[in-house]
Amino acid sequence: MSLDRALARIAAGIPDFRPGHVWLAGAGPGHPGHLTLEVAAALAAADAVVHDALVDPRVLALAGTAELHFAGKRGGKASAAQDDITALIISLAREGKRVLRLKGGDPFVFGRGAEEAFALVQQGIPFRILPGLTSGLAGLASVGIPATMRGINKAIILATGHAAGTEEDLDWAALAATGQPIVVYMGLKNLEPIVAALRSGGLAASMPAAVVVSAATDGQNLVIGTLDTIVALARKAGLEPPALIVVGEIVAMRAELIQLEQMIRSA
Ligand code: SAH
Repeated sequence: MSLDRALARIAAGIPDFRPGHVWLAGAGPGHPGHLTLEVAAALAAADAVVHDALVDPRVLALAGTAELHFAGKRGGKASAAQDDITALIISLAREGKRVLRLKGGDPFVFGRGAEEAFALVQQGIPFRILPGLTSGLAGLASVGIPATMRGINKAIILATGHAAGTEEDLDWAALAATGQPIVVYMGLKNLEPIVAALRSGGLAASMPAAVVVSAATDGQNLVIGTLDTIVALARKAGLEPPALIVVGEIVAMRAELIQLEQMIRSA
C-alpha cells in the first residue's frame, strides 16, 4: 500500500475534531517525525493551537491556518501561569474553536495535562487526550541509549528533578537502592544535588551517567560520563535545558550499539 493510501486509511479512523472541543495532545520530543498521526491530523484541523515552549518550530509549522498561542513555562519561570493557560483554553473552546492544546512529549508525563483535563471536566468542555512520545524514552532512543535491555535492567524509573534539594524532594536513596536506571526530567539545574543524593544512596562513582539535551531537535547534544565526572563535564559543556539526566548501566550500552551500527554500515 502506498504511504498516501495508508495515511488516508488511518485518517479515516480518527474522530472528527469538532468545534468547541479541546484536544490535549503531546508532540513528542522534537522532530515532526515523532508526532503521532492523530496529532498531525489535529494540527491540520485545529482553529487554535495553544503550545508550550518545548514544541519544536517544525511541528508548529504544520498547523494549517490555526492561530498560535504561546503558553510557555520555562525552567520554573512562569511566563504564563497555569491558571491563565487553562482560562485561555476554556475561552477559545467557548468561542467555538477547535482547540489543540499541544505539549512537548506526552501530556500526561510531567506535563500537567491531567490538571488541564480536570479543569475541562469541571467546565463541561468536551476533550480528548492524544498521547505523545515522552522525551524520557524517545529522547534516549534518539541518542542510542536503550531504555531497557535484557540482562541489564527490569525497570526504568522516570523521575522529576525539579524539587531536588528541597523539602518536597524525592527519596533518591530509595530509587538508587532499586539498582534500576533512572531518567530525570527537569533536573539539569539540580544535577549536582541529584548526583550527590544518588551517590550517598549507594550508587558507585563509576556508574555511567549521561545528560541528553534537546533530544530530536536541531540542538541535540549528549554528554556521557560517570556519576563521578558528569557534573564537571556538563558544566564544561555549558548545557542548557531541556535536558534529561540518565543514570545506569544502560548508558554504557550506547557505545556498543554505535560500534555495531558502524560495523553494519561499513559492511
Ligand atoms: N511532557 C514532557 C515533559 C515535560 S517536563 C514529556 O513527556 O517529555 C519538561 C522536561 O522534559 C524538560 O526539563 C526535560 O527534562 C524534558 N524534555 C522535554 N523535551 C526534551 C527534549 N527534546 N530533550 C531533552 N529533554 C526533554
